[in-house]
Amino acid sequence: MSTPPAENAILLHACCGPCSIMPIQRLCDLGFAPTLYFYNPNIHPLSEYLRRREGLLAVAEKLAIPVILADQDDKAAAFPGPWLERIAALGEAMADMASRCPLCYDIRLERAARLAQTLGFTRYSSTLLYSKYQNHQAILDAGARHAGPGLEFVGEDFRSGWQEGIRLSKEWGVYRQQYCGCVLSEFDRYRSKIGM
Ligand code: SF4
Repeated sequence: MSTPPAENAILLHACCGPCSIMPIQRLCDLGFAPTLYFYNPNIHPLSEYLRRREGLLAVAEKLAIPVILADQDDKAAAFPGPWLERIAALGEAMADMASRCPLCYDIRLERAARLAQTLGFTRYSSTLLYSKYQNHQAILDAGARHAGPGLEFVGEDFRSGWQEGIRLSKEWGVYRQQYCGCVLSEFDRYRSKIGM
């Protein structure tokens, strides 16, 4: 982006297509002009990452919203290694969402905040605030932690659009995932199959 963002611009960290629909619409209703930012090294395996990335691009095209893909200029942004290392450092606590998810939000929002500052955005937010399944307060905390002088975290609660977002994503044929993203969440999703 060579020219500074518009006065009403907001960098919207985006985790996937379905979760982006209502936050985009809400922010536009509030008078903001969102630019999506896909940075999610927590999504495993790579085939799943690619499906969600594709879904996000489909939503962006449908709603005519610009997108920045972290892995476009930095291929390593898709590599899960550094994310896994930080989560693994939690030891046994990694099995507990209350421990690992706040760290996962922190990793992603820290990079979103740094990019926002680099590009001259004065505000940023995250589609994670749409999900009923995420730890809403921990997302707000991470967002605020990485804000700072000249950068506000817009902690809008997008959850009221939950059903409408599901409806639209189905109507538009956007890929809908079966688990949160990481290998641990995939394990949690299917653990009952082995009686756990
Ligand atoms: S369950 Fe979801 S939010 Fe939590 S660590 Fe895994 S990918 Fe991140």
